[in-house]
Formats: sequence, structure tokens, C-alpha cells
Amino acid sequence: MKFYNTLTKRKEEFVPLVPGKVSMYVCGPTVYNFIHIGNARPMIVFDTARRYMEHRGYEVNYVSNFTDVDDKIIKKALEESVNAQEISERYIKECKQDMADMNVKPATTHPQATQEIDGMIEMISILMEKGYAYEVEGTVYFRTRKFAEYGKLSHKNLDDLRSGNRSLLVTGEDQKEDPLDFVLWKPKKEGEPYWESPWSQGRPGWHIECSVMAKKYLGEEIDIHAGGEDLIFPHHENEIAQSECCNGKIFARYWLHNGFLNIDNKKMSKSLGNFFTVREIKDRYDLQVLRFFMLSAHYRSPLNFSAELMEASKNGLDRIVNAVDNLNYLQENAAVAELTKQEAAALSEVKAFVERFDEAMDDDLNTADAISVIFELVKYANSNVTAQNSRAFIQAVKDEILELGDVLGLILEKKEEILEADIEKLIEERQAARKAKDFARADAIRGQLLDMGIVLLDTREGVKWKKA
Ligand code: AMP
Ligand code: ZN
Repeated sequence: MKFYNTLTKRKEEFVPLVPGKVSMYVCGPTVYNFIHIGNARPMIVFDTARRYMEHRGYEVNYVSNFTDVDDKIIKKALEESVNAQEISERYIKECKQDMADMNVKPATTHPQATQEIDGMIEMISILMEKGYAYEVEGTVYFRTRKFAEYGKLSHKNLDDLRSGNRSLLVTGEDQKEDPLDFVLWKPKKEGEPYWESPWSQGRPGWHIECSVMAKKYLGEEIDIHAGGEDLIFPHHENEIAQSECCNGKIFARYWLHNGFLNIDNKKMSKSLGNFFTVREIKDRYDLQVLRFFMLSAHYRSPLNFSAELMEASKNGLDRIVNAVDNLNYLQENAAVAELTKQEAAALSEVKAFVERFDEAMDDDLNTADAISVIFELVKYANSNVTAQNSRAFIQAVKDEILELGDVLGLILEKKEEILEADIEKLIEERQAARKAKDFARADAIRGQLLDMGIVLLDTREGVKWKKA
């Protein structure tokens, strides 16, 4: 399995620190609004990386944070006259809903910055003791020039950076020793949330959050660190500086970065205002279509969002879903149960598709090629599998398609359409059971409806229902 490592600018064979285990950290969103589909790209592609490693037998410890203290959160809280925590909690909940709808697995741990302040104060204190940080009037800065390897991830030349950043010195940060020094801790402004620290009542800088959370949940040395390519500099460069100076160890061995999701060839971003939220897309499409669209390109390539590409993704996904549906039908109507000798031989052809899928994914997660292999398998199924085949054979072909879909996080079984008439019928049955004092039956029907995603509300005007 090879990954392109931003650190070495090469595709490298992946060798984890502990055989069979992977520790992986993915920078998560700042929670001040609904996430947009640009934010969804790293979620989907790195969830797919995790699923693929699990498919190859690795146990993956996957950590992804929520940045829940930030200027933008504070601004939003002021606009709504609520406290910052209310904003971050609301949008963490909404983000988790979007992740579930995109079939992004919950991380092993989703740490929140505000819950980890003690760890941040500890790391900053160590950096101070070792001479890697200094305080000026309650603000603590990282002393960049003391870390000789600064710039190794972004492959930037420090002198160029320094002269490029000179203007910063004029814009109010003249207390820094060097334009490249960055904030580890800053004092509060009036009305802002704050924590006590040895330096001031204040809050941590953004970069220190990830260094601390990665260390706490994964250790001082981790296998994979990932995020969008806009994070390479300065965020990830700064994380390396903090972690390596504090711990005296290599921080992360493989750095993976996704390309941007663009619109009209410009980066989709909140500040430019050219974005769609995941929620807006959900109004028009099943979010499986969004997932399929994201995976139809290589994760490092820029990807331009357009209605045409979404339609093409919908059609592509439908083709696979319909093939699975057809196999379900054939399976139910198969004349014989047992695998024949010829079929057993044919199954080795089917296995070859799986090998080619793995080969594509082994090559730095080439999901576009992996999807092509699924299409070929679908074509094979459509032209070779008939009702004359055994149930076992049809099942085996179907299972391969479903398994490969699952590695990409695609749910390929048709969703049963729930008809209102069926819901009303079940509600009537439940009412009748209650009248007959058969409460066990009434509860069972409530449970059955809940499984279908329908919640019952017993009101004074009678029983009402809504989608969960
Ligand atoms: P943020 O909330 O801005 O810190 O972003 C959370 C994650 O989404 C980071 O990994 C960003 O790199 C990523 N991201 C933000 N915008 C885009 C975009 N247009 N395309 C791809 N990734 C993005
Ligand atoms: Zn981060």
C-alpha cells in the first residue's frame, strides 16, 4: 500500500509503527456553521482511506477533532446573543448528522479543543522550559528560528518566508522576535471565553490544539496525519514544530493532503461566499451521490463541483444500485441452491476484480480506478448472471459488489420506499392492539415503525407521526 507523502514529495510504501495497527489524525472543522461540501471532501476521502486500511486488515485508531474555540465562533455567538458553547455544540451535532448521512464513520475519538486546555497549557510550559517559546505581555509565541527543520513539510525556504512576512511586523505583531513566530497562547479580549493559565487569562492558539490532541489520543509519534492542502502551511508546519520540539520525536510519518473542491475553478470557501452546505445538497440528492462524486476523482486532484457532474454521479451510482437490485431479484428466483463446478471456476474471475480494486487503492488510494473496477464487475454481472445460475453463485457476485462498495463507504442496496399508506395501516393496527389491551403488540408496532425511521407522537388530537 503506497501513499503520497507531502513530507518527502514521493509515493511511499506504508509501513506502520506497530504491525497491523494504524494511528491516524485528521484535522476537523471549526464549528460555527453547517459544514460546506469543501469541508466534506477530507471527511469522505480520509474515511475511505480508513475503510480501505480496515479492509486490508489494519486496526485503525482514527482521531478527528472539532475546533470549538475560535474567533468565528465567538463572532457568531455575539450575533445571536448566545454563548460560544451553544454555537459550537449546535454545529457539532449538525456536523455529526451530516457525517452520518454521508456514511462517514464516527472517529474512534472526536476530541474537542475546549476539553483539552490542560494538555495545551502543559505542552506550552514544556516548550517554554526548553526555550522554544517566550511570553510577551500575556501572549506566548513559538520561537520558530530555534527549530532548524521548520519548513520541511511545506518545502519552504525560511529566508523567503521571513522577508515575505515582514509586513506582519508592521501590523501590530511587533512584539514578536521573528515574523515567523506564531501564537501558542493569547490573552482574552473583553467578553471572550477564557481559561486561567500561567501567562494570562486567555485561550490557546489553533495549532497547539492538534499537537496536544494527537499526542493524547494517539501518542507522541503517529503514522498518518491528514487534512486539506490549505493546512500544509502554516497549520501542519507549526504542529510539527510544536510536537517535535516538545516530544523530541518525529511527529507524523506520513502526511496526506486532499486537493480543493472548487466551484468555477475557485476554492469553495465560507469567506468567498461561493459554497453549498452539505444540507443544501441533501435537499436535492441522496448524500451517497455526493460521496460517489467525491470519490470519482483522485483525492489529491482539484475537483470542480457542477450540476452536470452530480447528475453523472447519480447515474453512475444508480447503475450499480440497479445491478445489485437485479441480483437480489435473480437470487430470490434462482432455480437451484448449490454452486456448480463451472460456477466455482467463474468465481475466480470475480475474485480477480477484487484484486484489481485493491491494486488501484494500493496506489495512493486511486478511488477513480477502483470505481471503474466496480463498473466492470457490474458489467460482468449484468451480462453473465442469470436466473439459471445457482443462488449461491448469484449471492457471491452480489456480495463482492457490496463489499467493494462498502470499502468506499457506498451503500448499494436500494432503500425501501416507505409508503404513507403502510404507515397509516400500522398505526391503525397499533390502535386496535391498544384497544384490546395487547400492549406488547402495540409496542412492537411502535418499534417496527421506529426501525423504518418513523416516530409516533401520541397527542390529544390522536396519533401523529414524523420522520426521525
Ligand atoms: P476549516 O473548518 O476551514 O478548518 O476546514 C476543515 C477542513 O476542510 C480542513 O481539512 C480544510 O483543509 C478542509 N477544506 C476547507 N475547504 C475546502 C475545500 N474547498 N476543498 C477541500 N477541502 C477543504
Ligand atoms: Zn489541525
